[in-house]
Amino acid sequence: MDRDILGQIRRYLVARQGVGMEVAYRVAGETGASIEGGAQAEPASAAPARARAPERDIVMITSPVTPGAPPKTAASPRDAGLERKPVIRVTREAKQVEQSSLFGEPVKKEAFDLSGYDLPRLDALVSKCTRCRLAEGRTKTVFGSGSPRAKIIFVGEAPGREEDLQGLPFVGRAGQLLTKMLAAIGFTRDEVYITNILKCRPPNNREPQEDEMAACEPYLLRQLELIDPAIICALGRIAAHGLLKKPTALSILRQGVHYYNDVPVAVVYHPAALLRNPNLKRDAWEDLQMVRKLYDEAIGEGA
Ligand code: URA
Repeated sequence: MDRDILGQIRRYLVARQGVGMEVAYRVAGETGASIEGGAQAEPASAAPARARAPERDIVMITSPVTPGAPPKTAASPRDAGLERKPVIRVTREAKQVEQSSLFGEPVKKEAFDLSGYDLPRLDALVSKCTRCRLAEGRTKTVFGSGSPRAKIIFVGEAPGREEDLQGLPFVGRAGQLLTKMLAAIGFTRDEVYITNILKCRPPNNREPQEDEMAACEPYLLRQLELIDPAIICALGRIAAHGLLKKPTALSILRQGVHYYNDVPVAVVYHPAALLRNPNLKRDAWEDLQMVRKLYDEAIGEGA
């Protein structure tokens, strides 16, 4: 069947009927692996593999989790769709590797070994980073804030004006809303970890460019390795695309559980989107409840 038509059927099933992506793929006659299950060659960070993630997989949703209707029977992360479904594996390489970009062109990445860095040293390294053009215009780098022992990491897009001035993530208007969103599901900022795909502010808050995201990714990978969260929450489209390397619409991505380096990823609206469009708040509330549920289940099983 024509791939466009398959895609349309899949999107319709997911968006209108709330079925999980894997089910949608099956109904559409293809497997998630063949269409969306992607894996990127390892970015050149030669940081050692996590014990439970010796290789990097980015795998499409395997769960019928839908916002507002997490499976009632979920007694474990596996039931909740948190189980990883290996599809494609790409072994880490210490030398230069080829990585597909979001849109499929190969991107050459230099080896960048951060394995010897703890969080304070990594923060110091980031503060002097000149790996991309954004170094020229920044006031301060924005590394991250919160607990280094957090079991959940919220990943945004990039610092804005306030963040660039203060050197802290999500301290502007969107940040104040994020604080309220966290409180609504029982988190304080101190008990979670908050960071961004980019550690420097893009000029005039323009969208991050792909080479900027690639240059910054080793820092995020090392942060994840060190903090070892049970779950990642991607805030908005750019964060989701930066993590998942899939140009899939946010409306689809927010309906399931994905994986970044073996860690489950939930995708929710960016708080700035909610400020622009308050009509999204109801859906956002359902997404947040799902995040809390996935977190509780992941912690319950892992603790
Ligand atoms: N928006 C983001 O994505 N990150 C921030 O730190 C602030 C606003």
